[in-house]
Amino acid sequence: MLFDPHDMNRLAILLDVDGTLLDIAPTPREVVVPHSLTQTLARLRDRLGGALALVSGRPIAELDEFFAPLRLPAIGGHGAEMRPVADGVTLSGRAAPLDPLFRQRLKDIAALHPGVLVEDKGYSLALHYRLVPKQGLALVHDVKHAYEAWADPSFELLTGKAVLEIKYAAFNKGSAVRDLMTYPPFTGRAPIFVGDDRTDEDAFAVVPEFSGHAMSVGRKLPGIDDHFKSPDDVRRWLERLADGVSVA
Ligand SMILES: [Mg+2]
Repeated sequence: MLFDPHDMNRLAILLDVDGTLLDIAPTPREVVVPHSLTQTLARLRDRLGGALALVSGRPIAELDEFFAPLRLPAIGGHGAEMRPVADGVTLSGRAAPLDPLFRQRLKDIAALHPGVLVEDKGYSLALHYRLVPKQGLALVHDVKHAYEAWADPSFELLTGKAVLEIKYAAFNKGSAVRDLMTYPPFTGRAPIFVGDDRTDEDAFAVVPEFSGHAMSVGRKLPGIDDHFKSPDDVRRWLERLADGVSVA
């Protein structure tokens, strides 16, 4: 599929962040946001009439902090948070807080595995083991066991890149993208979604409803139309789009 820069008024671009726009860092707080990337995204947003959004597992407040002073429309927490308008408010109440007992059970498990980082987002809990990859197998085993023992189908266990995350199954990036596409300037445009992880597959499944296009980074994930080798390739592609160069 060839993207003609003159077609920018009928496209929307939706971008996962970690592993897609940014290289994955040893800990989630250590990611590097190149200054040139922020500038590229600002130019691209203008070319797209504002139809550029970040779609991440991170809270939106964290995305704002990393990309400051740029603020974009965003989906955060895998769909638990949404801000359809860049300067608007973050819509809350999309997701209930995680069951406190289950949350404590997971924190207790993490405490048994030194070096595992616990990220409590309220509506979900992420356990990062990138710093202690050798703990990965045992941690995954213990968390899976606890998850199965809890036996509540309203929860979902996500296995990402050196991270486990437990969230309510009721929201995901796919349902959130479907919601976002009802807001101007996204409405009526064809979304190009770029992502690198299991959680992005939910969005890949939704973009065809809007005559969109799914692209993965690194691995070729199910449901894609195209793929990039690395976040660096994605950044160069965005630069060319922002410059108004036709790109395949
Ligand atoms: Mg990612």
